Amino acid sequence: MIYLDNNATTATDKRVLGKMLPYFCEIYSNPSSVYKFAQSARKAVEDARASLAKLLNCEAEELIFTSGGTESNNTAIKGVAFAHQNRGKHIITSKIEHHAVLHVCEYMQELGFEVTYLDVDKYGLVDIEQLKKSLKKETILTSIMLANNEIGTLQPIKEIVKICHGNNTYVHTDAVQAVGRISVDVKDLGVDFLSLSAHKFYGPKGVGALFSRKGIKFQPLLLGGGHEKGRRSSTENVPGIVGLGEAAALALESMEEDEKRIRPLRDRLESGILKTIPEAFSNGHPSQRLYNTSNICIRYIEGEGILINLDFEGICASSGSACTSGSLDPSHVLLALGLPHDVAHGSLRFSLGKDTTALQVDKVIEVLPSIVQRLRSMSPFWQQK
Ligand SMILES: *Cc1c(COP(=O)(O)O)cnc(C)c1O
Repeated sequence: MIYLDNNATTATDKRVLGKMLPYFCEIYSNPSSVYKFAQSARKAVEDARASLAKLLNCEAEELIFTSGGTESNNTAIKGVAFAHQNRGKHIITSKIEHHAVLHVCEYMQELGFEVTYLDVDKYGLVDIEQLKKSLKKETILTSIMLANNEIGTLQPIKEIVKICHGNNTYVHTDAVQAVGRISVDVKDLGVDFLSLSAHKFYGPKGVGALFSRKGIKFQPLLLGGGHEKGRRSSTENVPGIVGLGEAAALALESMEEDEKRIRPLRDRLESGILKTIPEAFSNGHPSQRLYNTSNICIRYIEGEGILINLDFEGICASSGSACTSGSLDPSHVLLALGLPHDVAHGSLRFSLGKDTTALQVDKVIEVLPSIVQRLRSMSPFWQQK
């Protein structure tokens, strides 16, 4: 199998699993209990918090463990909106956010909040001038993703923070595709909230974290026993949290090396495809882009058809986001770039990981042209062009 869908999820690193295993059947205590047996579980949770804090350059207390990127995004947006609505009910986001941000914003609109969805340019960069014009006294939060999951474009978060803070507006960033892959320094970025998820960087699924700058109030999403200093109730997912901590430690060690190896493979894949397939082009920013992501539009055929044929060859890739596959709507991200519907339908996303090899990349370059040729020969659009 050739797995080129690492933006959907990654394999849990065996070293991560190894660290997690004792916390199921041996050190299974509830970290909040009073006896000594509980202290080793508590220590494991706090060690993981310190490890993640080191990766992000923040204080350990500024991190709240959650069930993943979706919960972190929900907590930040609803939490700030509910806690600061007396000051205003306006939120700014972009048209290319993950559904775990967009659908929350749409929900906030139903509750009477006003939401501005910023446009992006053809590379997927948010319109900074439109951001400046959209900010008003009532704007309490701007939520812009750090790295886009479909096209990999990296947003100028630092600049966005400066502009928003000048208007007393908090900034949240969905950094799920960035943390563990590229250096993410919350102090340098200046953001107030940041979401991350373990399973996007070789940790387990179902665990993530929210960075929440010290002193900034938000309403917790989950109420209950008051865990995580009242910010997220529910007994800690100790094995998952340990896994997240270990994934963070490994990322800190290997991120630079991973980039050095993966970027040339991604470039080789992309240029190999664009060289051999006519009427194809890549999406996303040429340089301000995640080094593992290649999104390619192949005109006159549908991405889904290509995917099925790649699957016959043992190659896993995606078209649009995993969450929308199964629906026939083209990707909202590609539409926001200004691509027409029919072209957006012909998109493929390859996302490489640390186990991707040159041999695998070459196999894709080898099999894709004949798949495309076969599908195009059956396509009325190709014949009429
Ligand atoms: C995967 C992803 C999410 C959702 O994270 P989960 O941990 O799966 O809930 C949110 N935002 C982005 C950009 C993602 O890629």
